[in-house]
Amino acid sequence: MLCRETARGPARDWGCSRARNKIDDVKRTEVAITGGGIIGLSAALELADAGLRVTIFDRGRGMAEASSAAAGMLAASDPENPAALRPLAELSARLYPKFLERIEELSGERVPIRTRRVIQGMLELPEDFQELTEAELETAAPGIVTEELRFFSLDEESLDPRDLAAALPKAARAMGITLLEDTEITEVRERGGEIEIDTSAGRWVAEKFIHASGAWAARLSGLPITPRKGQMVMVEEPRPALAGVVLRSPGVYLVPRGDGRVVIGATVEDAGFDKQVEQKAIAGLLDKAAALWPPVRQSRMVESWAGLRPATPDGLPVIDACGERCWFAGGHFRNGILLAPGTARLLREMILGEPLSIDVSDFGCGRFAAAAARGS
Ligand SMILES: Cc1cc2nc3c(=O)[nH]c(=O)nc-3n(C[C@H](O)[C@H](O)[C@H](O)COP(=O)(O)OP(=O)(O)OC[C@H]3O[C@@H](n4cnc5c(N)ncnc54)[C@H](O)[C@@H]3O)c2cc1C
Repeated sequence: MLCRETARGPARDWGCSRARNKIDDVKRTEVAITGGGIIGLSAALELADAGLRVTIFDRGRGMAEASSAAAGMLAASDPENPAALRPLAELSARLYPKFLERIEELSGERVPIRTRRVIQGMLELPEDFQELTEAELETAAPGIVTEELRFFSLDEESLDPRDLAAALPKAARAMGITLLEDTEITEVRERGGEIEIDTSAGRWVAEKFIHASGAWAARLSGLPITPRKGQMVMVEEPRPALAGVVLRSPGVYLVPRGDGRVVIGATVEDAGFDKQVEQKAIAGLLDKAAALWPPVRQSRMVESWAGLRPATPDGLPVIDACGERCWFAGGHFRNGILLAPGTARLLREMILGEPLSIDVSDFGCGRFAAAAARGS
């Protein structure tokens, strides 16, 4: 259930809510959000900027799950993205500079853009892309092994999600947003024109509710969001280094941070909610990276980790109203860091009844029920 009517039916004496609140010590907020990942926090900032009072609930720490496990590529023009994602990806990429400026203004923490170019290899050169020459490739990634891949260049940025993890919760708090950590939402229902929220720290009532609980979203929303595990490894950048470019192929990517670290990713696994790092998977990633760019073989491993991407059956996010006072924002799979500012903008527009920046018909909650009914 997304936001369900209480089984007891609408409260009959709702007019007495003030007296009831006093007895139950119910706390109130205008907008409640589950999940302090990048999606929940970006939505909160956008809504607080529009003058709404927002409370975020996270059962752990803000930005501690998929949002800090990510590689941080803002892969708006990756030809491997689903075509239906493009308008949202482009909207988000356009909003990113202002999004980062606002975070810095509020938090005092800069989130630097760490790379501005991608060298991507695919089996077939996509239309409208020009193949790089061997000399161009050698300058960007000295020692690269191209094998059967054809390489082209994209003007695409990356950032370190750990910079965002340090800055975004701070920015939210500076904006007056309440971020309640270690507070799990256990049930949500629409009742008497309001939203009742049961949490591990008592009951809250909100005028509006946003589901943004990442890979765990199915539990409260009933939508078919499932976790896709991604394992990653960080190495010290070898010499000669990548010339400030991300190197991406169908099986692996290497993302230099510009400070002597290179992140190598990532597995895509159906492993439920397991976040164990397996040495075999890490060794596999290192092998794939070295096959593409052999200098990696000489580099020292610094760290490895795993995170859970929130995935939908069709690879597209859900950004939609899912009740009179409930909205859903999730299922951003491999692109949630990129898509956060665009998602936040669309949520604000939906909630405040403003014209939508882009057509959102591909991102509806109802599409899964429709697909199930068609038997697809
Ligand atoms: C290995 C890896 C690499 C990636 N690389 C990239 C990349 O390069 N570029 C990119 O754009 N994206 C990338 N992604 C995807 C991106 O990280 C995700 O799409 C994005 O972080 C999802 O954000 P979220 O806020 O929906 O989820 P999360 O960040 O997981 O946040 C969800 C939050 O909800 C909380 N929560 C869950 N249930 C409850 C509850 N009942 N009550 C209260 N709180 C709850 C959790 O504690 C969590 O903090 C990558 C992901 C992984 C794992």
